[in-house]
Amino acid sequence: MESVNGYFGSMVFNDTVMRQRLPQDTYEQLQHTIKEKRHLDIGLANIIAQAMKEWAIENGATHFTHWFQPMTGITAEKHESFISPVGGGKVIMEFSGKELIRGEPDASSFPSGGLRATFEARGYTAWDATSYAFIKEGTLCIPTAFCSFGGHALDKKTPLLRSMQALSKQALRVLRLFGNEDVHTVDSSVGAEQEYFLIDKSVFEKRKDLIYTGRTLFGAKPPKGQELGDHYFGTIKPRVFAFMKELDTELWKLGITAKTEHNEVAPGQHELAPIYSSCNIATDHNQLTMELMQKIAKKHDLVCLLHEKPFAGVNGSGKHNNWSIATDTGVNLLNPGETPAENAQFLLFLCAVIKAVDEYQDLLRISVASAGNDHRLGASEAPPAIVSIFIGAELAEILNALENDVPYGGKEKELMKIGVHTIPRFPRDNTDRNRTSPFAFTANKFEFRMPGSSASIADPNIVINTAVASALREFADILENAEDFEDELHKLIRATISTHKRIIFNGNGYDEAWTREAERRGLCNYRTTPDAVSHLLDEKNVRLFTEYGVYSVEELNAQFEIRMENYCKVIRIEALTLLNMVNKDILPAVSAFLGELSGSYLARRGTGLNAEPVYEKEMIESLTAKLNDLYAQKNELQALLDKDLEYADVTKRAFFCKDEIIVKMARIRALVDSMEEVTRSEMWPYPTYGAILFSVK
Ligand code: ADP
Ligand code: MG
Repeated sequence: MESVNGYFGSMVFNDTVMRQRLPQDTYEQLQHTIKEKRHLDIGLANIIAQAMKEWAIENGATHFTHWFQPMTGITAEKHESFISPVGGGKVIMEFSGKELIRGEPDASSFPSGGLRATFEARGYTAWDATSYAFIKEGTLCIPTAFCSFGGHALDKKTPLLRSMQALSKQALRVLRLFGNEDVHTVDSSVGAEQEYFLIDKSVFEKRKDLIYTGRTLFGAKPPKGQELGDHYFGTIKPRVFAFMKELDTELWKLGITAKTEHNEVAPGQHELAPIYSSCNIATDHNQLTMELMQKIAKKHDLVCLLHEKPFAGVNGSGKHNNWSIATDTGVNLLNPGETPAENAQFLLFLCAVIKAVDEYQDLLRISVASAGNDHRLGASEAPPAIVSIFIGAELAEILNALENDVPYGGKEKELMKIGVHTIPRFPRDNTDRNRTSPFAFTANKFEFRMPGSSASIADPNIVINTAVASALREFADILENAEDFEDELHKLIRATISTHKRIIFNGNGYDEAWTREAERRGLCNYRTTPDAVSHLLDEKNVRLFTEYGVYSVEELNAQFEIRMENYCKVIRIEALTLLNMVNKDILPAVSAFLGELSGSYLARRGTGLNAEPVYEKEMIESLTAKLNDLYAQKNELQALLDKDLEYADVTKRAFFCKDEIIVKMARIRALVDSMEEVTRSEMWPYPTYGAILFSVK
């Protein structure tokens, strides 16, 4: 078998391939264009397109596509073949520079939140040369940004790239103050751990709820769930292992550094983590990972569930967004340094993150808000809906010493002076213990644990990058004008700790007491998507994004519309699916079972023996009551769904979904689950939780 380093990245038009295949001067000009983030000129693009096409055809490609990430959070592609007629019934394979740089897909079917109405139906895609082209299933995919002709971003890549630029610019200003002259760019590094479920295809196909909504809308608790904790890091079953192996191989061919694969807490739940890379690449790669997971699962007669909460009562799935900032010279700015000066710089960057997360805690919450993730956040399995930072006891003591001018350090305690004293490096295991924290400092990076498993990581990273850029800009403004740099730096760090320490919480995030404490501290607790998204357009948030050019006002309005609308659509689809299942399967099944019970009751009474058929009698009474209740409840849900369509205002509609429809659905679910528990197995129309969760043998 071919060795991994033989095929790693074999389907990527990466740096090595470019070096081999592009004329030296073209290669250098392209590198220059990428570094300076300038537009590619057409002459250059023609040469690159030619080389790219030859390479792609040699590797089996027949088509190309501009691969982009519309605001739906998934990826989109429109395939075009390379063929071009040359007369006489013949074709040649063509691909021009123009086709490489720019495409014009019809944007009208993608959500645009009103941006399209104001401008044109068509959008255009433009090559993001910082992300390599790759071949997927015989198609050359060119990672692109997607904009309207009016110049508005219609995707997630464009604002992400803008946020990275903002961060780089402000971080550079701060680095210059510490005398770092050799750094040219600063980039955020991201590693996204991805959780998912694998279930057998045969059970999936019998569940309309999984097919239409990605999650189960019913399901009584099985006798065994995750309580024994015997699945976490347990032996991987042969079928799952075969899936993981194929997944790794396919990811590696695309240059995606899949590194660890293991079982998670719930039965049937697993995780994949790649090695971290630049924020933009990590986002592209996470999208591809999700896509390949689903495709490869099918080849193994499995279905990969990426929903945040496919099953009630067992853990849901998230995505841990590990984030740090690094210079192009390879220095991680969240690593405590060796010298007092490096330490001071580390503390300042740390403070920038603390300030950013405190000031824009609402935006972080909004960035992960979705109907699916609402089931997960705050459910004692994932972080609560309250954003806070965990920094560990050691770092907390250092910050406290700095803020209050109290002595710090083991035996020989002394006052800490920034720029004079060093602080210790933190061993990993000291800083990684709190799994309940939404935003945890883990030795040299922050781990944001709120993102849902199905969402794009672009949104949270756009917020983190921009908010940290804003904090760094404030710092740079102050420090660039300081008379005494060290003195001003010391004051600035103390003041930042003092103002923003309310966001630091090292305790148990699952604890009820924390909810009350967080409220006392004035932290936001937006439990649901409508609660959170209602704050997207708060003045301070609009100011942040527009100031750094990450989103324009129109783009933010569009974001707001799309998020609220998507929430309403998801809830509506769920409710309709629920009604379909109740009407067509559950009511008839329970009714049939009642018929059976009645027959049995009459037959047994007819025996003339004196014993009353208690089981049949009591079941008939209780099940009939439930069946009648279910019938009434589902009619009420139907009425709510009719009313839902009358709302013109999307915010009002979202709150109606949350306060009325979801509540009614929960009520119906409880009824149905209690019926499932007593209905004869063969008569229940769906595979049970037990059958689904343990379907992969
Ligand atoms: P875990 O959180 O499961 O203990 P690790 O901390 O080893 O595992 O890694 C989790 C993820 O964090 C991986 O994707 C890894 O590549 C990423 N990671 C490690 N260091 C950094 C860093 N400096 N910046 C961003 N991500 C990082
Ligand atoms: Mg982790």
